[in-house]
Amino acid sequence: MQATGTIDYLDQLKQKLRAFIDNELLPFEREHEMDAEQKISMEQITWVRKRSKELGFYGINLPKELGGQSLSLKGLCVLKEELAKSGAVLWGHVLGEIGGPLRIGQMVNVFTPDQLTKYVMPVINAEAGCCFALSEPGAGSDARAIQTTAIRDGDSYILHGKKHFISAAPYADWAIVLAKEMVEPTNVSVTAFIVEKQTEERPGFELGKIQVPISGEHSTAELIFNQCRVPSTNILGQRGKGLMLGLNRINENRASWGATYLGVAQRLLDEAVDHAKERRQFGKPIGEFQAIQHMLAEMATELYAARCMLYDVIERMDHGENVRGQASMVKLYTSEVANRVADKAVQILGGQGLMKGHPVEKMYRDVRMFRILTGTSEIQKNIIAKELLSQS
Ligand SMILES: Cc1cc2nc3c(=O)[nH]c(=O)nc-3n(C[C@H](O)[C@H](O)[C@H](O)COP(=O)(O)OP(=O)(O)OC[C@H]3O[C@@H](n4cnc5c(N)ncnc54)[C@H](O)[C@@H]3O)c2cc1C
Repeated sequence: MQATGTIDYLDQLKQKLRAFIDNELLPFEREHEMDAEQKISMEQITWVRKRSKELGFYGINLPKELGGQSLSLKGLCVLKEELAKSGAVLWGHVLGEIGGPLRIGQMVNVFTPDQLTKYVMPVINAEAGCCFALSEPGAGSDARAIQTTAIRDGDSYILHGKKHFISAAPYADWAIVLAKEMVEPTNVSVTAFIVEKQTEERPGFELGKIQVPISGEHSTAELIFNQCRVPSTNILGQRGKGLMLGLNRINENRASWGATYLGVAQRLLDEAVDHAKERRQFGKPIGEFQAIQHMLAEMATELYAARCMLYDVIERMDHGENVRGQASMVKLYTSEVANRVADKAVQILGGQGLMKGHPVEKMYRDVRMFRILTGTSEIQKNIIAKELLSQS
């Protein structure tokens, strides 16, 4: 049995994932004429989740007793990079990033045994989806400004308010929702609740508007809580500690998203190199012009630096080090590098890189989101500077 962090093991895992992508996932998407900017059916999502579970990828980071392989964060990042590089429409459902076990993997210790059985296990078994709902129209970077309220009523709470920009909400059977409770007139605390989707038989959240961002995907939506009754047994973690739950999860989340950003950036570089070799102008491949060569060199160099940084921080996280500031550096740098790489890729592709239907045009739009999601670049700089200035 090989340790889950060794290079051999990770290499084998990466090859197995590549084989799945090339031999099953991409052919499935071609057969169904799938397009990332069209609505994706629940049947297609369920197919990839189930197949990925059979192959051992879905929830691979979970502990063995929950059906995972306790894969290290480094291992997860290697797989995330590979998936992002593939350009597969369903990339986010292979490891369970979009509404699957990856969303809750870092929080499994917080669920009670009953909550694990009722809510987490169906997600792990690819039979249900979930989402994490913090952001609201009035609370983005400032998470403490949330306005969704939770008022205690006997053995339950009444939730009222609205969340927006929630990834995987359209596919979610339940959500982790942060709401504020007035404990005393001046004492407000934020608690996390597990809230099921409303059906005719039970109260729950209503799905609001689908919010389509610049990338064109239909996987983000509003959640509406209209005097929604939630049993107090659905409190996740400690009452009043909801923000801690969100913030604890965010460091690993932020750093590991860097792997996705770099996977996309690598694909952009590969596309630019291929184009530079093939496209001829003035009687020769454009790759023979020094201006193009320098752009490629800058893209590759930045990508290499960003990858070194990502894996240095990820390995330190795997060893239990507190690298809060560095996690923000990874989020900041990898997302900004991906944007610079995308900009140069479009420049090298010329008009083709601007055309709908070309993967570079789509990725150019995708990477623009990276500087805003999971905390904007400005917020990462605030965190890094705060750490620097608080050191004695
Ligand atoms: C596609 C998508 C998916 C998302 N998924 C989820 C999800 O699953 N769950 C969830 O809870 N949220 C989700 N979000 C919300 C996301 O986390 C927020 O959009 C992000 O944190 C920024 O908040 P905001 O959009 O309200 O921008 P704002 O906070 O309004 O920021 C606007 C601008 O002001 C700047 N700014 C704000 N405060 C400061 C400051 N103190 N110092 C310097 N500059 C500042 C920002 O950097 C930015 O440039 C998602 C968003 C998108 C677009």
